[in-house]
Amino acid sequence: MHIIQGDITEQGTDAIVNAANPSLMGGGGVDGAIHRAGGPAILDECKQVVSRQGRLPTGKAVMTTGGNLKAKYVIHTVGPIWHGGNKGEPELLVSAYQESLKLAAENNLNSISFPSISTGAYGYPVSKASKVAIDAVITFLSHTITSLREMVFVLFDSQTFGVYSSALQEIAEKRGLRLS
Ligand code: ADP
Repeated sequence: MHIIQGDITEQGTDAIVNAANPSLMGGGGVDGAIHRAGGPAILDECKQVVSRQGRLPTGKAVMTTGGNLKAKYVIHTVGPIWHGGNKGEPELLVSAYQESLKLAAENNLNSISFPSISTGAYGYPVSKASKVAIDAVITFLSHTITSLREMVFVLFDSQTFGVYSSALQEIAEKRGLRLS
């Protein structure tokens, strides 16, 4: 697992994850960046998904082509909107990460990049979301036999990158994991 600062649209992992909204019609933040960089093929597939199964519920995930991106696939998931933390936000955030990882594993992917889901427009505090996110990924990878070999958190700004780095150190110490 790596934590880097950068732009997720430039990642060459098999899949990148999009912090989408239930309409799957694009939007601001990382969602807009992915659709801009990947081109119209992604939106075309999103429209097909919505006509087949309707809006994407919070905590669920679907996969489309990566269009013009280096990544072959985009996994679209919907994180929770922060309402103070007592409305099931942590469980829904865990679910967004787990459902994305499950899809990647079911499709035999080897590598996946995640943005910091829910911490932009959706307002989830980064200090809390970073711990939930890292814990969810480590738990999935340690309990599941999977094709996944590489997991990258791609944080856009230096502040978010710093918070995720500290969270990883804290979680690694608690779990007795060695960081390289
Ligand atoms: P949400 O609606 O789930 O909160 P946002 O896209 O508003 O999603 O924000 C999620 C995170 O993605 C924020 O930390 C934001 O800075 C970050 N972000 C925005 N653009 C990119 C990008 N191109 N690559 C990686 N992260 C990005």
